[in-house]
Amino acid sequence: MAKFDLNDDSLVVIIGSGAGGGTLANELAQKGIRSVVLEAGKRFKMSDIENDEWKMFGKISWLDKRYVEGPARLAKDFPNLPAWLVKGVGGATVHWAGVAMRFQEHEFKMKTTNGTVPGANVLDWPITLKEMEPYYEKAESKMGVCGTKATGMPFHGKSSHYKVVEEGAKRVGARCEQAHLAINTQPRDGRASCQVTGFCMQGCRFGAKWSTMYTEIPKAEATGNVEVRPESMVLRIEHDANGKVNGVLYADGNGNQHLQKARVVAVAGNSIESPRMLLNSASNLFPDGLANSSGQVGQNYMTHTTAGVYAEFEKPVHMHKSTAVPGIVTEYQNNDPTRGHLGGYELEIMHLGLPFLSAFMNPGKGGWGRELAQSLENYDHMAGFWICGEDMAVESNNVTLHPTEKDQYGLPVPVVYKTDHINDTRMRNHAYARSKELFEAVGAFKVNDLPPYPASHNMGTNRMSEHARDGVVNRWGQSHDIDNLFVSDGSQFTSSSTENPTLTIVALTIRQADYIADQMKKRNI
Ligand SMILES: Cc1cc2nc3c(=O)[nH]c(=O)nc-3n(C[C@H](O)[C@H](O)[C@H](O)COP(=O)(O)OP(=O)(O)OC[C@H]3O[C@@H](n4cnc5c(N)ncnc54)[C@H](O)[C@@H]3O)c2cc1C
Ligand code: SF4
Repeated sequence: MAKFDLNDDSLVVIIGSGAGGGTLANELAQKGIRSVVLEAGKRFKMSDIENDEWKMFGKISWLDKRYVEGPARLAKDFPNLPAWLVKGVGGATVHWAGVAMRFQEHEFKMKTTNGTVPGANVLDWPITLKEMEPYYEKAESKMGVCGTKATGMPFHGKSSHYKVVEEGAKRVGARCEQAHLAINTQPRDGRASCQVTGFCMQGCRFGAKWSTMYTEIPKAEATGNVEVRPESMVLRIEHDANGKVNGVLYADGNGNQHLQKARVVAVAGNSIESPRMLLNSASNLFPDGLANSSGQVGQNYMTHTTAGVYAEFEKPVHMHKSTAVPGIVTEYQNNDPTRGHLGGYELEIMHLGLPFLSAFMNPGKGGWGRELAQSLENYDHMAGFWICGEDMAVESNNVTLHPTEKDQYGLPVPVVYKTDHINDTRMRNHAYARSKELFEAVGAFKVNDLPPYPASHNMGTNRMSEHARDGVVNRWGQSHDIDNLFVSDGSQFTSSSTENPTLTIVALTIRQADYIADQMKKRNI
């Protein structure tokens, strides 16, 4: 495996090894470009993955101190856990559910589609679906997405959970489809096919689900062009007198600090840590943080408009005997303002395990009380949705640095402010009502609405924009202010769309790698 010198200033330094960072490392490595990946968390082994929700949560989650602020219930229910993320090689692709969907055309131009939205900071992306299509195709092939032309792999078999919802959808006239999952339905790319254990969100011990942990990262390392340094927490990004980034300061597992020199730096720490790194890198030349001439670093934090709905039936459903997300009600995915809200949403058929369901069903009461206990007794008679909808970019939903409190690395603790736009509230209420209708149509005797739980989709905070004044990066994820600084994760999203983000993160990264390689070759960076 490659080992590079700290003084080697010809390297690309990639911060984070998840969907964005892990993919970028491999894409560049295959083109012969050398990089160092600095990853704050450990390197997990396949044998670390256990089919146990709380054990895995404790083992892999990012639990460094964070604060949640804002009037939304999340701040009260989970004051230190704004987001459900992984700290380790592979990032959140270790515990993602594998849903891999393309954006719809209008979702790249929400401002053009709906005009200015009062109270929101909506913007068009500087790219279109047409431009993204070839990269979506490459991402689907790389990740092994079933039900796509790119792989030719069939969908998974229909689970009983799926069939219950499919029938309910039929009765209310709603469209329901099997999910495009980056989970093998046949052995592919040296990985096994799905064993239908249902623990996708704890990590897949069979490797059937795509994760950079055991796909992109080892492939990148095998080229000899990549060195991954786990337990390397980036503290700040350094620059030269001309304002070009030229190195990254990080702390290793023993707390010793090192400066890795760099020709190019790519930030891929997810939407809380990436802006935090840029803000923590403030200097005399960039007093408000790197890449922040617009003041937009950390702003427009989006999580998708979410919530859960779990219905109880007389007969068993056994929702856990399936991949985490077997299908999606896509009827409300379009942009139809006559519904009373802008943007679309999906009802993702999703099971949580009993431990997580008990924590999320009524978190304010700490999983306590007769009614909750009675519902949990019906666990194997339940079917459920996770609502996933377009979240309006709102400037005041943001990530900032705590003025006084520091974490174990001596860095200011991030403060995440998130509250609903009125559109979110309307959309969520619409989704609750449609879910109830659907579940009752197929015989549910009780339908439980769950409040939003810690964000699994994190977007915005370093958004892409046509003009430097409106965002942080250009159409290539390249900083408007500093040519050799890139953002390669979900924080570059201009809008959230209705779809789960990871396929788009990977597609953008493949496209970005082509651009970085071209710009390096031309010696523009
Ligand atoms: C339970 C769950 C289910 C999900 N299911 C889906 C799904 O079905 N479909 C979908 O599209 N998405 C899903 N997601 C979301 C998906 O996992 C993320 O969108 C995606 O992984 C984000 O990629 P990223 O590159 O932005 O960040 P990540 O994959 O989170 O990677 C960031 C990495 O950076 C590291 N890092 C952060 N700060 C530093 C630092 N200072 N120094 C060094 N390293 C650092 C972190 O440790 C981490 O490894 C799910 C998420 C959760 C929680
Ligand atoms: S259901 Fe399939 S993808 Fe999910 S954890 Fe089990 S084997 Fe892996």
